[in-house]
Amino acid sequence: MLYRKYGKTGIEVSAIGFGGMRFEEQNDIDYCASLTKAAYDAGINYFDTAPGYEKSEELFGEAFKQMKKTRTQRPFYVSTKTHEAEPCKIRENLETSLERMGLDYIDFYHVWWVLSLDEYYDRKAKGALKEFEKLKDEGLIKHICISTHMTGTDIGQALNDYPFDGILLGYSVTNFAYRDVGLDAAAKLGLGVAVMNPLGGGIIPKNPKLFDFVKTQPEETVVEAALRFLINDTRITISLVGFSTLQHLDEAVSAVDGFKQISADSIGKIRSTLHESFNQLCTACGYCEGKCPQGIPVLKMMDTYDQLSLTGKQIELINRLRWHWGIDLEDDYTQKCTECGACEAACTQKLPICERLKLVHAEVEKFLKAEK
Ligand code: SF4
Ligand code: SF4
Repeated sequence: MLYRKYGKTGIEVSAIGFGGMRFEEQNDIDYCASLTKAAYDAGINYFDTAPGYEKSEELFGEAFKQMKKTRTQRPFYVSTKTHEAEPCKIRENLETSLERMGLDYIDFYHVWWVLSLDEYYDRKAKGALKEFEKLKDEGLIKHICISTHMTGTDIGQALNDYPFDGILLGYSVTNFAYRDVGLDAAAKLGLGVAVMNPLGGGIIPKNPKLFDFVKTQPEETVVEAALRFLINDTRITISLVGFSTLQHLDEAVSAVDGFKQISADSIGKIRSTLHESFNQLCTACGYCEGKCPQGIPVLKMMDTYDQLSLTGKQIELINRLRWHWGIDLEDDYTQKCTECGACEAACTQKLPICERLKLVHAEVEKFLKAEK
């Protein structure tokens, strides 16, 4: 395992961390705990969760019971978050997280899910950061961090406004162009940087041929290559990977173990190919879910659009919509959409959702016409 210093804190964290957002077997607590423990035994020492990640905090908590026995010899670090702005609610959130995980303190506590600068300043005005400082003084949290889906430029502004210790942001081969400025700002200020969604929300493992050009070693898988692309980036401290099976864990660990510095020339080629083709994909982060007053399943529609943009094949779009998502082809979502903009405001990738809905619908119409 490779270890890196988490910014100015000097804490040595593993180059890949356990992202607890998507435990697939939520109800199998023993299995999830054993997977977490296996990651710890493989050298992973950074565990990221949030109160909103379903049972994630409880599942980690179960594993931590075991892991705490060896914490002095083999330290591990816990990251969690609060979306609250009011001081008393922040404290309540933290106390709940500590109780769920059986911990006395949180190593990296995040001002969570900041979608815009307005929202950032609003939370600050309500006293969120002051409350974080109090919690730190009381020893309940060790480091103050921010988790955000803002654009790179806005990230830079927030980081220059407050002396955060670290940042968590979505970053992968599929969206790096969108957040590069933010990463530069974090590196310049000496922050620890954790990136989530390093596999583009599953798009990369599901489309290995399309992402074949990311490979720089003959035997590596596309998942290993995508992770190595991030490990190679010295601005990034930790790439958070979600593990559902031991096989996923092994693949991520082997990406780190077999990591070799990638030449600037190879990185340049990968970046220019990606820049032209793949920085506008839906990462399936789910932040648009439930936002549409018309009940339009935005994530499913954007994922469907991606099948077309990735493969160029109308049939892939139709199959995705019809068989994968079970969506009725006759349903006209463009008619239902009032273009209120709620989904676009929530979208972490800032995708032009309304425009894409129309494109999906146009393809469906063409398909249905040809079928008749
Ligand atoms: S813009 Fe359309 S799809 Fe998006 S939330 Fe509004 S009605 Fe729903
Ligand atoms: S449409 Fe945007 S917010 Fe919704 S899942 Fe995709 S990337 Fe996330």
